[in-house]
Amino acid sequence: MSDCLFCKIARKEIPAKLVYEDEDAVAFEDINPQAPVHVLVVPKRHIPTLNELTPADDALLGKLARISAGIARDRGVSEAGWRSVVNVNREGGQLVFHVHMHCMGGRPMFWPPG
Ligand code: AMP
Ligand code: ZN
Repeated sequence: MSDCLFCKIARKEIPAKLVYEDEDAVAFEDINPQAPVHVLVVPKRHIPTLNELTPADDALLGKLARISAGIARDRGVSEAGWRSVVNVNREGGQLVFHVHMHCMGGRPMFWPPG
């Protein structure tokens, strides 16, 4: 998707504070962090929402979770705890329509979320 914000970040057409990259995914600091650790883990391939996943994406989503756990470990929040969030569509709070996994930690998280 040529005009998608996270596709542009993945292609380095828009700057972001990248913290991880491989052939399938990038991770970068959220521009408006809601916790001391707030990193977005994003597939390079454009997938609008979790609603569009197919069985071919199973390994990719597992990889995003593993990358998130690695970031949590690197930031020192693995043991205290952290949160992985994927918002879906309007009522789910999704604002950017390119799948992304929020990796958040460094403060207590509450349940249920707002
Ligand atoms: P969501 O509401 O789940 O779609 O999350 C979108 C996230 O993207 C929000 O937490 C925003 O702060 C973040 N965001 C929006 N624009 C950028 C950007 N240019 N660089 C980094 N993060 C961004
Ligand atoms: Zn995209």
